[in-house]
Amino acid sequence: MAKYRTKRDFKLTSEPKGVARKNASNEALIFVVQKHQASHLHYDFRLEWRGVLLSWAIPKGPSLDPSIKRLAMAVEDHPVEYAKFEGIIPEGQYGGGTVMVWDQGTWEPEVDIESGLRDGELKFSLHGKKLRGSWVLVRTKRGFGRTERASWLLIKHRDRYASTSDVVIDKPRSVLSRRLMAGIAAAAGGNVEKAAESDPHR
Ligand code: MN
Repeated sequence: MAKYRTKRDFKLTSEPKGVARKNASNEALIFVVQKHQASHLHYDFRLEWRGVLLSWAIPKGPSLDPSIKRLAMAVEDHPVEYAKFEGIIPEGQYGGGTVMVWDQGTWEPEVDIESGLRDGELKFSLHGKKLRGSWVLVRTKRGFGRTERASWLLIKHRDRYASTSDVVIDKPRSVLSRRLMAGIAAAAGGNVEKAAESDPHR
């Protein structure tokens, strides 16, 4: 998690500093999806594995429709306690803006995790409040060097949890606090107007 730490000034941001932790082998693995209004809105999709959260940034957020593939850019591992982080990252800091815990729960691999990550095809099921059933992450481009990130696609498998409803629009609230982005920004002294841009306009 060196990359995670070097990007952040922990005197200025309230994000967790984080230590890699070992999880007991009988403990369920957690997942979290954080809606993040930074310079651009995206959804951070994170799967716990080997004491960290493997992380992907999904610009459009997950889709329950198996015919829709959502671009997921691999980003740096995050500490496991990051899964509880909801609030604001100060402007000027890395990822400055508002963060919502949009979904959380546990995940189960459907394949060997290490081979799935290496071969670029990770099948798994999610047990969240909004995201359930079987999914796959497929790598379409490897990341090279220090700046290029690997590209993956997040795709819902056909099962009883598949749907054509637009889950990011239909279920816009925090699963932790029921707040919208504007409410989270307001409570933490953030930029309410900017946060509200990513709330549904009804
Ligand atoms: Mn982010």
